[in-house]
Amino acid sequence: MRPDEPVAVAVRSLCEFTARTGDLSARFTPSPSAQQGIAGHAIVAGRRGPGYERELSLSARHEGLQVRGRADGYDPSRNRLEEFKTHRGDLERLPANQRALHWAQLKMYGAMLCRERGLGEIELSLVYFDIRSGRETELPQAFTAAELREFFTAQCQLFVGWAAREMQHRRARDRFLGSAVFPHAELGGGQRQMAEAVYHAARRGERLMVEAPTGIGKTIGSLFPMLKALPVQKVDKVFFLVAKTSGRALALQALQALKIPQTGQDRAALRVLELGSKDSACRYPGRACEAAECPLAAGFYDRLPQARDMALGLALADQPSLREVAAAADVCPYYLTQEMVRWSDVIVGDFNYFFDTSALLHALLLQNQWRVALLVDEAHNLVPRARAMYSATLDPAAVAAALPGARESVRAPLRRLERVWRGLHPDRTARYFTVPEVPAALIDELLSVTAAITDELVEEGAVDEAVLRLHFDAMHFCRMAEAFGAHSLFDVTETEAGAVLCIRNVSPASFLAPRFAGCMSVVLFSATLSPAPFYRRLLGLPLECRWLKVDSPFQAQQLDVRVERRISTRYHDRARSVRPIADLMASQFAHRPGNYLAFFSSFDYLAAVMAVFQQRCPHVPVWEQRRGMDEAERAAYLARFVAGARGIGFAVLGGVFAEGVDLPGDRLIGAFIVTLGLPQVNAINAQIERRMQTLFDAGYEYTYLYPGIQKVVQAAGRVIRSVSDRGSLVLIDDRYTSARVRELLPTWWDVRSAD
Ligand code: SF4
Repeated sequence: MRPDEPVAVAVRSLCEFTARTGDLSARFTPSPSAQQGIAGHAIVAGRRGPGYERELSLSARHEGLQVRGRADGYDPSRNRLEEFKTHRGDLERLPANQRALHWAQLKMYGAMLCRERGLGEIELSLVYFDIRSGRETELPQAFTAAELREFFTAQCQLFVGWAAREMQHRRARDRFLGSAVFPHAELGGGQRQMAEAVYHAARRGERLMVEAPTGIGKTIGSLFPMLKALPVQKVDKVFFLVAKTSGRALALQALQALKIPQTGQDRAALRVLELGSKDSACRYPGRACEAAECPLAAGFYDRLPQARDMALGLALADQPSLREVAAAADVCPYYLTQEMVRWSDVIVGDFNYFFDTSALLHALLLQNQWRVALLVDEAHNLVPRARAMYSATLDPAAVAAALPGARESVRAPLRRLERVWRGLHPDRTARYFTVPEVPAALIDELLSVTAAITDELVEEGAVDEAVLRLHFDAMHFCRMAEAFGAHSLFDVTETEAGAVLCIRNVSPASFLAPRFAGCMSVVLFSATLSPAPFYRRLLGLPLECRWLKVDSPFQAQQLDVRVERRISTRYHDRARSVRPIADLMASQFAHRPGNYLAFFSSFDYLAAVMAVFQQRCPHVPVWEQRRGMDEAERAAYLARFVAGARGIGFAVLGGVFAEGVDLPGDRLIGAFIVTLGLPQVNAINAQIERRMQTLFDAGYEYTYLYPGIQKVVQAAGRVIRSVSDRGSLVLIDDRYTSARVRELLPTWWDVRSAD
């Protein structure tokens, strides 16, 4: 919505607002996938005769509203307007409120077509296409133009009051942002440099990458200028995406510091929403999201308007506040949060919500054609996270788990699938190998399995949990197989349970590029985004994407950086390196006692050095990072870093204590980094290296060197958190003396080598 224009609204969004009543039904239902839906539409449209008009763009104005949409097809010879909907199985199972919504959409299209072509009457037909049988069920009904006009007007009237309030909010929001002042005394040097670049990128609708050191205030340094540019760029929403929950909290704190005022309607002038996970929001874990099982799903849409209104009264819609509103209005907090995305200005959430294959924020952006400004915090994490989103694994253990609970109609295709699966690795000698293409026979059998499970779902209404899990895995695998290309490997790993199949994404660029392209402006930032071409290429950013390195506020004398080149931490030298490393740590600790972090490339290496260190220095307190520590254990680990205390925390590079941990002043006075953080040399990484070489002509750098040094710099960044901090850093490995490693280290470090 833009203040100087009519409020544009898509037919679907308008009807979802005005014509949706009754229960929520978000349980997994056997509805067709998006691809099946598209294919089904194409089949039905293809069956229509000559002269049939497909995909009609329609638009009509009502007071301050511009309603627009695309009807599926019109047959002028029969004066019949059709809307296609795909389904699977018994049409009677389609919830009544869903069908009412379909009718509402079609009647809106009918009204717009009658107005556009001067028709006095028209036949509307909802056409349900069963993707399993290929059968069409037509539900035709004749309407006069007057009836449809009345319906159209009534729907618009229901929305127009709300839209007017939204317009008022938009004006108030833009006024507030126009006059908002930076919430802290002043912008620091690096922060100012960053803020100016973000503002210019936002104003010009550009893509920007910013590498800025920790501690300069990147969160507010990016959010504030982006918000200031919103009115100029007529941006609808800002998505602030984070890799970790701690990033969400920092963003919310920064937004609170803006001291957002209330408008005349007693509403916040800037609406901020925090997205959380379903697991943390759900009040009835383990139940299906439908009226029969969850009381918060029953009548959800009937109570939603009240809940929405209450949520809009929040000063800041974070997860605890939304939970309170949901409890008061008796609706599901998770789905209320999803609804509030539509009515919020700044949405703070995990990367998943925008980049995943079925991401909510991306789907809503497309449906509503929102103008979105995107901020991606800790953007270096997007490479591994996106790789995981666009990879898919099939484990034979999942099939074995599904078989006992599957009915015979599912077991038969499962057994055929197992045969094809075994055929991929008949002799079981190689532990790991890649296959150039995902075999078509495998996909055929997977599709048969998912079709059989879907049929069971249709007929029984539910399936065994292991069967359902396999169903989701298989569907995701098929989706990734459809998109398979040079960006991914298809590999087979032999395990005790059989061959694990993996479509392993190596470069997520082709998946991410369209997501970025759909945004008005994009800013990605992190303390470690070097080298620029590495991130630009892997993240699918255009060549013209600007990369800014923000000057560090820190001075070389703040950090004593020493390379211990007499020790090699190469894999074959590790056993020999354990004692010298323990000696080195002991000597540094004796020289300057205090709190240290020691980072290792693996838990095994960590344990070996820690054991020797404890023998050598039993008086020095140590604490150890262990695999899978929960939140309380992590907090207890960090609580050991008290100002003025003494001891060494042992941790792993790339782990939970190597990023996003803030231990200013004496809470941490130094770090030891053991190894270069290079990923392990193994069969999988060897294949990734080969593919990186083919794609980017930089196999070793893209697979090992850049990801490794990125982890080192992140971990080292724990020591100096402010201009008053002082500390030491010991880089343990002779390879830190090489020029190509040194050029990847922060330029403000004054690295010296121990003799
Ligand atoms: S409370 Fe839980 S089970 Fe109920 S609708 Fe919400 S997410 Fe689903």
